[in-house]
Amino acid sequence: MPKVLIIGAGLSGLTSAFALKDSEYEVEILEARPRLGGRIFTKEVNSCQLELGATWFGPQHTSLMALINQLEIPFKTQENGSEAIYDFRPKGNLERFQIPNQGSSTFKFKSGSSSLINTLFQKQTGKVHFNEIVKSISYSDTFTVETEQNQFEADYLILTIPLQLIADTIEFEPGLPQSFQNLLSNTHTWMSDSIKFSVAFNSDFWKNDRYIGTLMSAQQIVQEMYDHSDKDREQNALVGFLNAGYSELSEENRKERLSNQLRDTFNQKAFDIKAYADVNWRNEAFIIHKQAKALIPHQNNGNPKLREGFFENCLYFSASETAGQTPGYMDGAVHRGMEVAELLLKKLG
Ligand SMILES: Cc1cc2nc3c(=O)[nH]c(=O)nc-3n(C[C@H](O)[C@H](O)[C@H](O)COP(=O)(O)OP(=O)(O)OC[C@H]3O[C@@H](n4cnc5c(N)ncnc54)[C@H](O)[C@@H]3O)c2cc1C
Repeated sequence: MPKVLIIGAGLSGLTSAFALKDSEYEVEILEARPRLGGRIFTKEVNSCQLELGATWFGPQHTSLMALINQLEIPFKTQENGSEAIYDFRPKGNLERFQIPNQGSSTFKFKSGSSSLINTLFQKQTGKVHFNEIVKSISYSDTFTVETEQNQFEADYLILTIPLQLIADTIEFEPGLPQSFQNLLSNTHTWMSDSIKFSVAFNSDFWKNDRYIGTLMSAQQIVQEMYDHSDKDREQNALVGFLNAGYSELSEENRKERLSNQLRDTFNQKAFDIKAYADVNWRNEAFIIHKQAKALIPHQNNGNPKLREGFFENCLYFSASETAGQTPGYMDGAVHRGMEVAELLLKKLG
């Protein structure tokens, strides 16, 4: 049985594993983290579901929608209300503005984005090895993949590690062409610069007269915020992005600043935070190297050269950013994960 090794148990890797499950390939997955999902991360804190990675998608994300429908994963519309608050402080005031009608809906998963990951994991049949950090890949008729502790052999490799991180951390023998290494170094990893937060309260004190949670600010710690309440779970929550200027603060400090901003904004004397978490993705391992050079958002995302096969078409790059459709997004990860699986299935004839 020919063996396929998938590096990375994020959305792309698990999609490929799912698509190969009934084939004649033996599939194994190496994952650096102790958890599944990569840039998809729903954290359970005090019985609240905090969304700390990818959250939203839309009807234009056709590959993702097809997979969600096939797996029957429930999703719902993101409610933003008709008015938002713009926080211009300290140079201006709090102001309300009308949210323009966007024409089409934005969706999110009813039980958190990790519900997609967990379902894929349950339905695929490959063995996942956690805490295996790939360091080097060598090829001579077959692949030898070295992690910090172990060595794995394979006939085919699907590499879903974010591309800039590959250029910064993985050694290839024989080496990849210099022009391709340069392309990897210059391909932006979507959202690797963001700080995502999620916070749950005992009440939804922010909801009143046409306003249900949407807030924007350029100077305050909360840069962008949306309602993330869930009636079924009796969860009153908000989710969004923090200003990157606060990235050097501790999570506890960011929580305090966020509380102060919300308390002032909504004239609350006191409120109880039931659960809070944020992830400063720029400081996370396994998404971007600490010394990685700054790139323009989406730089080189979807470049067709990223979809070329290497080592006699036995190695494919498959991070979302390689995709020919919506690169960088969950949809791109599914689109490319399926495409690479199909390329390998064709080899079986
Ligand atoms: C904060 C945030 C918000 C986002 N919001 C949205 C959104 O609302 N909508 C949307 O569509 N998309 C969003 N995205 C993007 C979306 O998360 C990604 O497009 C998608 O999850 C990428 O999946 P992937 O499998 O290609 O990569 P990843 O999820 O990065 O998976 C790669 C896997 O490889 C593993 N890995 C890395 N290095 C090694 C190594 N050396 N050895 C072994 N394993 C390794 C990682 O741990 C990871 O599990 C967001 C991303 C972030 C971070």
